[in-house]
Amino acid sequence: MHVDRYAPSPTADLHLGNLRTALAGWLLARAAGGRWLMRIEDLDTARVRAADGAAARNLADLRRLGLDWDGDVLRQSERLDCYRDAIAMLGERVYECFCTRREILEATAAPHDDGYRPYPGTCLRLSRAERAQRREQRRPALRVRADGATCTIHDRFAGDVTAVVDDFVLVRGDGEFAYNLASVVDDVSSGVTHVTRGDDLLSSAPRQAWLAQLLGGAAPTYAHVGLVLGRDGRRLAKRNGPANLDEAGGPARVLPWLTASLGLGEHDDVAGALAAMPPDYEFWTSRMSIT
Ligand code: GLU
Repeated sequence: MHVDRYAPSPTADLHLGNLRTALAGWLLARAAGGRWLMRIEDLDTARVRAADGAAARNLADLRRLGLDWDGDVLRQSERLDCYRDAIAMLGERVYECFCTRREILEATAAPHDDGYRPYPGTCLRLSRAERAQRREQRRPALRVRADGATCTIHDRFAGDVTAVVDDFVLVRGDGEFAYNLASVVDDVSSGVTHVTRGDDLLSSAPRQAWLAQLLGGAAPTYAHVGLVLGRDGRRLAKRNGPANLDEAGGPARVLPWLTASLGLGEHDDVAGALAAMPPDYEFWTSRMSIT
């Protein structure tokens, strides 16, 4: 059974790139006769609060495009016990990290292409006494000890991608569960087999697949969809393109654009696009410009 999910962070309205990814995941799931689940990733309390009502608008916009999901909407803010259980299950693999952003910056080599800096494991080497002393100064983040594991994932468009898994953050210093933990816990517990999302997250896939297996799940198959770029050629954001479905002209304008951008020709409804699905979707690897 093909089970995919769409997982918006309700910190803003969905823009054309978000809508394109949602449509791609829906089409892949429905073409395979599978399920398409909905999950609101609302753990970043401050940012969610600042974008009051975004979750409801996100869901309404998906419905206006004709995208229907299976089962109830999962809200991460209601699942904190599951994340706590996962941390407990990881046991000895979890360790406290007291490093500031700046310390990590100074201790690491040049950043990866995407700006990500793998953690060099500084706090893994602290003695018990040093840890106790640092705990008095700042609240630690929690990291997972990956021991330099490598993980290979399969992406429908990018093919096999192999990466070294670093000791990534599971719980942030402010106590919030990190995206890389929560989203994997939810994918495993929802039985997700396929993950369709923006290609900015491709580099996160190996560490997430590795964690899924550690938590007793299976690594999903991925489909990382090219981002939509704004007028300036950079990823779409408020300042360089329409910020939401209405600004982009509403469903009547947006749907044909989206379906054409996915190589399916122009369609007024998602059923037409589904009927037009070819067996191969190579073109989705490319990023799209709104102009
Ligand atoms: N919440 C993430 C986002 O909006 C998506 C995470 C995922 O699909 O794994 O970018």
